[in-house]
Amino acid sequence: MAAGVNPSDSSLAAIISSSEYDGELSRCADRVRRENYSDEVYLRGLIEVSSYCKNNCYYCGLRAGNANALRYRLSKDEILAVCEEGYGLGFRTFVLQGGEDPSFTDSFICDVVSSIKSSFPGCAVTLSLGEKDYSSYKSYRDAGADRYLLRHETADQKHYSMLHPESMSLSRRKECLFALKELGYQVGSGFMVGSPYQSVENIVSDIRFLQELSPDMIGIGPFVHHWSTPFRDFENGSAELTVRLVAVLRLLFPYSLIPATTSLATIAEENRKKALLSGANVIMPNLTPLKVRKKYELYDRKLSSSLESAQALDGIRRMLEEIGYRAVQSRGDVKRQTTNNNLI
Ligand code: SAM
Ligand code: SF4
Repeated sequence: MAAGVNPSDSSLAAIISSSEYDGELSRCADRVRRENYSDEVYLRGLIEVSSYCKNNCYYCGLRAGNANALRYRLSKDEILAVCEEGYGLGFRTFVLQGGEDPSFTDSFICDVVSSIKSSFPGCAVTLSLGEKDYSSYKSYRDAGADRYLLRHETADQKHYSMLHPESMSLSRRKECLFALKELGYQVGSGFMVGSPYQSVENIVSDIRFLQELSPDMIGIGPFVHHWSTPFRDFENGSAELTVRLVAVLRLLFPYSLIPATTSLATIAEENRKKALLSGANVIMPNLTPLKVRKKYELYDRKLSSSLESAQALDGIRRMLEEIGYRAVQSRGDVKRQTTNNNLI
């Protein structure tokens, strides 16, 4: 697959189906990322603000129906204290992620966002708090939120209904994503690789949907099962396929911010490097207070120490240097002005 070429559905399907490591694909993706982002890897401080969720996605350990889940939510003061620590460590983007926690009202979220923006000048705030009304998204934006991450999860209606209960819908998810774009957020979307019942055609549809949305950030990671969810017996997604898809996404979206995700590193730490060498240009070290970190359990064996932890920054920098990249903690906004080969 060449840079700047939009492959047909059948060519994409062939790339996705191949079981071999494609060194040329990774090298080509790395060339394109270097043309657009040089050797920079942006570090974002991840703060997992609540493990309460009103939803029941079948794959996620935070789902409301998981009676075994341990729940916590951070207060405004706790979130600001974490930001202060992160700011001291050099972070200039904070990602506030959590379940859809009804206790996190719009006014609370706006208060937290505006306090972060005024207390820590020059920082970007990214929210990842799920589906909200247009007016709520607008109020967060007015309070200063810069970016929003909301994976579409799967762009196929039937597949979506196999991963979620009837109360959730793909059309609502898409509506949220287009609303976020309209409001001027830098928007991130994405999907799980190897989620239960996923077909090669589903992944092709995911890529086509991303081309329609044209997001600034694209997060993909393998599905990893959680012992206390309806999907406990399903195999984990493939790390090899995830890395190959990172390369494909880099070629199709040269300007985009693509993280080497935690779920990928959860399967094996080496995968993080492979993703970086195949076009990924973001890492999100975890700043969540250690006393609650283990309670944010989306899937089994989530990394919460070693290189995943923001407190291990030196290790992250060294790892990046070893493979030819440079850790950058500036805001790291998307570089839309560069060549956009996102052909439709
Ligand atoms: N609640 C918000 C939402 O759903 O957008 C944000 C938090 S949610 C935990 C963030 C992402 O975690 C989801 O978009 C989903 O793709 C991912 N996730 C949840 N369970 C997972 C699993 N078992 N394996 C891999 N990723 C998972
Ligand atoms: Fe809640 Fe998000 Fe998990 Fe779904 S993926 S159960 S919305 S935290």
